[in-house]
Amino acid sequence: MRLTQFSDLVSLFSVGHIFSEHSGLNPKEITLRKVGPIQYAVHWLYGVSEPTILRLTDWALSRKWLTNTKSGKLVLRAITAVSWYFPYGIVVTTKAAVNWVDYITNAEGPKGARLAVGPCVCQKALNRWKEPVMKDITVLYGADIYYHLNMGYELIAAERAKSILEACHQEGLVHVIEFCFQSGKWNFVICNCDSEICAPTRVFLHTGKFQYPGPEIASHDPVKCIGKDNCGKCLQRCIYSANQVSGDVITYHAENCMGCGLCVTTCKGEARSMSIRKDYHHDKRISSKILLG
Ligand code: SF4
Ligand code: SF4
Ligand code: SF4
Repeated sequence: MRLTQFSDLVSLFSVGHIFSEHSGLNPKEITLRKVGPIQYAVHWLYGVSEPTILRLTDWALSRKWLTNTKSGKLVLRAITAVSWYFPYGIVVTTKAAVNWVDYITNAEGPKGARLAVGPCVCQKALNRWKEPVMKDITVLYGADIYYHLNMGYELIAAERAKSILEACHQEGLVHVIEFCFQSGKWNFVICNCDSEICAPTRVFLHTGKFQYPGPEIASHDPVKCIGKDNCGKCLQRCIYSANQVSGDVITYHAENCMGCGLCVTTCKGEARSMSIRKDYHHDKRISSKILLG
């Protein structure tokens, strides 16, 4: 682990918060649970090492032989296959992300929701900046960890989290609800990601790993669609190649749709809508009962 900043060093010695009370999701019962000091400390160490991991990932993604050759892609896929500890995420619409914030707010009760926002760790680690920067919304025990990591996180109320989510949607960023160890008990952040800087999203686009489709899926009405020349917004907004074009005609590939909802709100022909994905597989990580409200 490379300590890159004095603040990282400070955070290593400020350990009292490990033994405070922290909550996480119990995905099976759809309740909150107490997070013990071991889980908290393990995740805190991940938080300290995350910038280094992201820089290594970015280094790998910049090797053309890894991303552009068949054998390189196999190596990349093998590396990601054993990275089960790393955060994986479920892609969701703004409404679903807001429902998750509301769930946390209600479940935390009078203490108020544990939410914190900080500068995007990918942007900071890679020193590549693009507004909005304050978009990493940590939740539950994740908010406590990142708040104490001295990385510029501040505790926020639910309304602020929702307005950040809405602004990120307008900017064309994908909301990703992230957890470690493939377990909903380790849910800790709502990321708002792009396809240029975000390291996990770029890995997904090369390997299909690190992100899962959410509980909603887009539909496309070719009769209402006014075509690429008159609109073409879905082509610009979708980073997952679910929309392609042949001449002026948009072709929609539902099998690539991750359920972010970005193509719906800007569709000039009102040819797009979201519906419930019948084969959502991740209730054990975060229930569709939470996300769909
Ligand atoms: S995963 Fe997305 S929001 Fe999270 S740190 Fe990376 S780019 Fe930022
Ligand atoms: S088709 Fe629409 S909802 Fe599906 S991934 Fe693309 S932008 Fe998101
Ligand atoms: S955004 Fe809507 S109207 Fe525009 S090209 Fe895509 S489907 Fe057609």
